[in-house]
Amino acid sequence: MSNLFYQGRGRKPVLDQARGLYMWDTDGKRYLDGSSGAMVCNIGHSDPDVLAAMRRQMEKSTFGYRLHFETEASEKLAARLAGLMPEHLTRVFFVSGGSEAVESGMKMARQHALATGQGSRWKVISRQPSYHGCTLGALAVTGYAALTDPFEPMMRMMPRVPAPRAYLDGLDPDDEATGHHYADMLEQRILEEGPETVLAFILEPVGGASTGALVPPKGYMERIREICDRHGVLLILDEVMTGAGRTGTFLGAEHWDLRPDIVVMSKGLGAGYVPLGAMIVDERLVEPVLDAGGFAHGFTYAGNPLACAAGLAVVDVIENKGLCANAATMGGTLIARLHGLMQKHEIIGDVRGKGLLTAFEFMSDRDAKTPLPRELNAYQRFVDIAYQRGLIVYSRRTHDGYSGDHILVCPPLIATEDHLDEIIDGLDASLDQFAAEIAP
Ligand code: PLP
Repeated sequence: MSNLFYQGRGRKPVLDQARGLYMWDTDGKRYLDGSSGAMVCNIGHSDPDVLAAMRRQMEKSTFGYRLHFETEASEKLAARLAGLMPEHLTRVFFVSGGSEAVESGMKMARQHALATGQGSRWKVISRQPSYHGCTLGALAVTGYAALTDPFEPMMRMMPRVPAPRAYLDGLDPDDEATGHHYADMLEQRILEEGPETVLAFILEPVGGASTGALVPPKGYMERIREICDRHGVLLILDEVMTGAGRTGTFLGAEHWDLRPDIVVMSKGLGAGYVPLGAMIVDERLVEPVLDAGGFAHGFTYAGNPLACAAGLAVVDVIENKGLCANAATMGGTLIARLHGLMQKHEIIGDVRGKGLLTAFEFMSDRDAKTPLPRELNAYQRFVDIAYQRGLIVYSRRTHDGYSGDHILVCPPLIATEDHLDEIIDGLDASLDQFAAEIAP
C-alpha cells in the first residue's frame, strides 16, 4: 500500500529512468512516450544541456524571494520570452504551472479594468468544451462538466460560448463563413451579457485535452479579435499546452498572426524539468496597474531561479535544435499516418491537429457522427491497451452532452520518422485489439 493517492485507487508502475522519447519502469519495461507526459516534455526526457544548466544554477542559488531579489535567470528568461512574442507583449510574470498562469491572466485583466475606470467589467467568457486548469478560478472558466459540477456552489461560474466543432456540425472548416458563424456567437453572448460587464475572452488556440486537438476553422481567430476590440474585451490566449513549439510555431497564435492582450503558458516551458509557467502581457495593460498601486497577486515560488534557469535552457534547446520546424514537419507526417489508420480502422471517425498536437476521435458511425457507446469507456480502455503494449498516449472524453472519446498523440518535438513508425505500429495493434474486444 502506498501513502500516495491521485484520482483513483489504481497504482501505476514505478518510473525508473527516462531518456529522449523513452521511459523505463523499475521492472525494466520500456515505454514510448507518445504524449510527452501530459503534453509537457516537449524536448524529450533528460536533455543533457538542460540538466547541466540546472546543475550550474543549483550551485549558485536555488531560491531568492521575489520581494527581496531579482535573479539573473528570471531576468534572462523574461527577456528571452518577450523576444519570442508578438512585439507588444513585453512584460513577463512567472508562476509555477498552468492553472496559476490562467488565474494570473484573469486577475491582471481585472486589475487593469479597475485601474482604468472600467470596474463594471468582471465576466470572463470561455468556451464549451475547454480546459483551463483545476484551481477554482481557472475552473470557473473551464467547460468540462465532470470537473466543474461538484464545485459550482463554491465558484462564480462564467459565461460560455460553444467551441467551434465544425466536424460535428457538418460545416466546412476551410470556409470563412464557418469561422464567422462560431465567432459571431461570442459577439452575441457579449451583447446578451452587456458589453460593459465583460472583461475578457479566454481560449486555447488549438484545443488540448478538452476537445482533442481541435483546430479553429478559417476566419475564426481574426473575427474573434475584431469582436473583442469592438467591445473593449481583452483576449487571453491560453497557450499552456500549445506554447513552446507544440503546434509547429513557438506560440500557437503565430498561425493566425493573432495579437492577444495576455498570453499564458506553462507545460512545454518547464518541459517536465521544473514546474514553471508564465503570463506575458501587453505593456499598455501593465503600466496602469503598477501606477494604481501594483499587481495584487503572486505566488511564493514565482520566478524561482532554478525553474527559470531550466526554462531558459529549454528555450535554447527548442531554438538550437529547430524543434518548432521539426514539430511542423513531423506533425504533417503524423496526421497523414493517422489518416492511414483511419482508412483501415472504421472506429476512427475523425483525425485532426496542428504540429505535434494531434488526435483521433472514436465514432461508431462516421457519417452520422455517432460516438461509441459511453459505457465502453473507449478513451480509457484504449489508453490502457496501448500502455500494456508500451505506448503512452493521452485521452479524455469530451464532456458536454456529446460523449466523444478522443486520443491525443503528442510525442516530444524531437520525434523522428522512426519514432512515428513505432507510434503508428503501436496504435495499429492497439486498435486491432480494441476493435476485437468491442466487436458484437
Ligand atoms: N490550460 C490548459 C490549456 C491546459 O491544458 C492545462 C493543463 O492541462 C491547464 C491550463 C492547467 O495547467 P496545470 O495542470 O499545469 O495547472
